[in-house]
Amino acid sequence: MTDKPKLRVLLCAPRGFCAGVVRAIDAVEEALRIHGAPVYVRHEIVHNKYVVEGLRAKGAIFVEELDEVPDTSKPVIFSAHGVPKAIPEEAVARNIFAIDATCPLVTKVHREAELHFRQGRQVILVGHAGHPEVVGTIGQLPPGSIILVQTVEDIENLQPKDEENLAYVTQTTLSIDDTRSMVDALLRRFPRMIGPHREDICYATTNRQEAVKHIAPVVDALLVVGSSNSSNSQRLKEVAERSGCKLARLVLRAEDVDWDLFSGITSLGITAGASAPEILVEEIMDAFAERFELHVETVSTADEAVFFPLPRELRQAV
Ligand code: SF4
Repeated sequence: MTDKPKLRVLLCAPRGFCAGVVRAIDAVEEALRIHGAPVYVRHEIVHNKYVVEGLRAKGAIFVEELDEVPDTSKPVIFSAHGVPKAIPEEAVARNIFAIDATCPLVTKVHREAELHFRQGRQVILVGHAGHPEVVGTIGQLPPGSIILVQTVEDIENLQPKDEENLAYVTQTTLSIDDTRSMVDALLRRFPRMIGPHREDICYATTNRQEAVKHIAPVVDALLVVGSSNSSNSQRLKEVAERSGCKLARLVLRAEDVDWDLFSGITSLGITAGASAPEILVEEIMDAFAERFELHVETVSTADEAVFFPLPRELRQAV
């Protein structure tokens, strides 16, 4: 017998690492194995401090710009979020061996934007200003070619050069529901606008949000394991709140949990952003198990079997 309060835990599945994140982390580890430490990584390889610290301990040096790389004999890896075209060009000019760990699903958006541009369309990007993926996508085309919209109001104020010749692309990690409203608003104003065959929001973002929608209405609280600078993790917290969960929190580690908030709950949902490793979910579950008698169920809403091979530069080296 235990005198701990009972807590029903519903674990979202899928949760945590996606194929693009696994590939990016593997790229850094493989580069370290082949080239030896240090290797340089432009920007956090994925938005998770635990992952970044782990790679730093193995010999990765994280920089924000290429001019912070003093030793051009060492490879530089571009993060999963993608980079503007000017960055690989700068690497070539400085004779830096660049390994591009941009997620293939982000690269797909880059190619869509380029194709529209070549076909003479003005490109509208739905996304969040300043996020590295958005910076990278905007940087695929000459300055001023892509217009970023973040809200329905932005769409109402749009002044395109030619209303008949427009296309849209989106960031991969947005809220599915918000993006649908944005795309509806775009198509209401510009009915001839062209978009992707399927939305650009990636499978991992879609599946993790669907799982949260399923669980959020039936639990007292929901925890998203992930970093505060992770777009898809932030969206999971928002989706939980909008789906009726009164207490949704984003935490990186067990030490970040505000235990007073969770003292009266009898059910808890747990998920993890696409850049959060499962070991942190386990750490948080263990911390709950110290305070509650847990009854854990996994609620699976989709199967994932996506795999991306290592970046081309590493496959060639192997
Ligand atoms: S969240 Fe989606 S777009 Fe981002 S790395 Fe993962 S699979 Fe790629």
